[in-house]
Amino acid sequence: MNDIKKFKYTDILGWSVSRYDRFSNCKRQYFYDYYAKFNKDIPLEKIQFLKSLTSKPLETGNIAHDIIKDILKRFQISAKPINKDKFFKYAFNMTEKYCNSKTFFEHYYKGEIISTSEIYTKIKSVLENFLNSPRFSWIERNAVPQSSQWVIEPDGFGETRINGFKAFCKVDFLFPIDDKIYIIDWKTGKADEKKHSRQLTGYSLWANYHFDKNATDIVSMIVYLYPQYNEKSVKVNDSVISKFANTVETETKDMHEYLIDIEKNIPKDKKEFTLTGNTFFCNYCNYKEICPGNKF
Ligand code: SF4
Repeated sequence: MNDIKKFKYTDILGWSVSRYDRFSNCKRQYFYDYYAKFNKDIPLEKIQFLKSLTSKPLETGNIAHDIIKDILKRFQISAKPINKDKFFKYAFNMTEKYCNSKTFFEHYYKGEIISTSEIYTKIKSVLENFLNSPRFSWIERNAVPQSSQWVIEPDGFGETRINGFKAFCKVDFLFPIDDKIYIIDWKTGKADEKKHSRQLTGYSLWANYHFDKNATDIVSMIVYLYPQYNEKSVKVNDSVISKFANTVETETKDMHEYLIDIEKNIPKDKKEFTLTGNTFFCNYCNYKEICPGNKF
């Protein structure tokens, strides 16, 4: 599992579920996220600062992901059971460290005082749900013996090729058991059936490309860790793969429409990146301070 294919760097844009989501939701937000350096009337540092704002739900997911990653890496060194007292102390310290080093959207725009203990309460539930789940015991029993083969949040962004187009599908955790490959993606937020199914299919294609595995030998699942433990898997076969590959091609071409140079990934003028009319997206948008459409 350690022979992930490498690609030579190019400027060409790479499709991902989150990139196309951003593109679909608001073209201007997409411009600020991906083409800030082409913005002429707002300092780059300002846009980068706004982009870096985190939020309580986002940071909860980020911290939980990093702690789970550490648990799995620890299993690659030792199969001994986890000392829960020490583990939760570590989890609290990590929460405190992350929260103190970030600027939160809720604080920046609403003046809210961010409570580490409130965030930790949710993270503790997430981690308890994870450690008490049948899936965790199953991993300990069945997957730990082959832990040297695990892929845990691989370096980079999970680059791959789909129908010849650059794409990014970064898996959280991939591991083999017998002749199957399992892929797990952890979620701490609400279930989003459509988006998460797309992500799972993308992960299957990533594994299919990098490890030459048949689609039917890849089991991808989303594991929801809050408020209760829940799993969802997608069955991928050749027909799903080919339909998905066509979607990636169409969506990549949609994004190319906003470029003046596809090879160099140079965008059209900012005014072509129109503002959304959907105030829901604006409510949660990091860029509302600089956006001319800001009505809040
Ligand atoms: S404030 Fe609204 S219109 Fe402006 S970038 Fe954000 S989502 Fe788009």
